[in-house]
Amino acid sequence: SLALNKEIYDVGSLGAGAGGWVSKCEIRPNDPNLPKKIFAIKTLPPGPRDIELKELIINERCNSPYIVKYYGTFRHEGNICIAMEYMDAKSLHEVYNRVKSEGAFLHERVLSEIARSILLGLKYLNAQRILHRDIKPSNILFNLNGAIKLCDLGISRDLDGTLASTFVGTRNYMAPERLSGEKYGVNCETWSVGITILEAAIGEHPLPEHDEFVANYDKLAPPQLTDLPDYGVMWSPAFKDFINQCLKVNVNVRPSPTQMLEHPWIKNQQDKPIDMGAFIRRVWQ
Ligand code: ADP
Ligand code: MG
Repeated sequence: SLALNKEIYDVGSLGAGAGGWVSKCEIRPNDPNLPKKIFAIKTLPPGPRDIELKELIINERCNSPYIVKYYGTFRHEGNICIAMEYMDAKSLHEVYNRVKSEGAFLHERVLSEIARSILLGLKYLNAQRILHRDIKPSNILFNLNGAIKLCDLGISRDLDGTLASTFVGTRNYMAPERLSGEKYGVNCETWSVGITILEAAIGEHPLPEHDEFVANYDKLAPPQLTDLPDYGVMWSPAFKDFINQCLKVNVNVRPSPTQMLEHPWIKNQQDKPIDMGAFIRRVWQ
C-alpha cells in the first residue's frame, strides 16, 4: 500500500472516470490498538476543475442515508483529493454488468427499490436546493448492507431560484432541455433517472452515441420501453409507464423526482419488502 501521508494509505483502485480516479484508502492511527478507518478518495489532477472545488462545499451540508457521505478535500502532490464514504458493493454500472454476465436481468422489484432510493436522494437534494445533474449508473453506489446512495455531487450547484443554465454533466444522460442549452430545473433529473433505470433493466445504454444523439435529439422520439427489442423479459405495464413518464421529452409534462415517488411502480411495491442486502451480497459472493 502507498502512504499518502503519515496516516493515509491507498490500498487499491476502485475505478477511473473521465476526470480522475478513485482509490480505497485507510487511515491507520498511530496507536495500533485503535481501529483503522476505511474510506474512498477521488483524485482529480489540477486544472480548470479547481473551480469546481468550491462547489464541493455543498456536499458538506448533505446528511442523508441516500447520499454518499463527504468527509473533506485536501491537496496531495498538486492533485485535489476528495475523501468520502467507501461503498463496498460497487456501482449500479458494475452490478447490472455482473447480472448480465450471468445471462440474467435485474428483477423489477430490485429495479424499483433502486429507483426509489435514487428518487429519495434527489428529493432530499431538492429540499436543500441542490441539483445533482450527473445521475448515471456509475454514480449510484451500493454497500453490502443493501444501502443505495448517490455520489459525485461535484458538478451539482445550488439552484438559483428554481432554474440553472450551465452546461455540465454527462451528455448521454442529459435531458433534451439541457442539450438544447435551455434553462432547466429539477425535472431534468427525472430524465436521467429514466435512462439510468432503463439501462440497468436491459443491460445496455438505450440511446445512440453522444454525438449522434446530441445532433439529432430534437428529431428522435424518446426511447420507449414498448419500442425496444424483446429482451426475453416481460416488463410490467407499471414499469413501462414509469420509464415512459421519466422520458417525456416535453419538460413541462415530465414529473419531478418527488412526483415519481408517487408512481404506482414505486408505491405499490413497498408492500412487498425486499432484502437489498441479501440481493447485493448474492451478486458479489
Ligand atoms: P465515473 O463515475 O464517471 O465512472 P468516477 O471517477 O466518478 O467516474 O468513479 C470511478 C469509479 O469508482 C466508479 O465507477 C465507482 O465504481 C467507483 N467509486 C466512486 N466513488 C466510490 C466510493 N465512494 N466507494 C466505492 N467506489 C467508488
Ligand atoms: Mg462518478
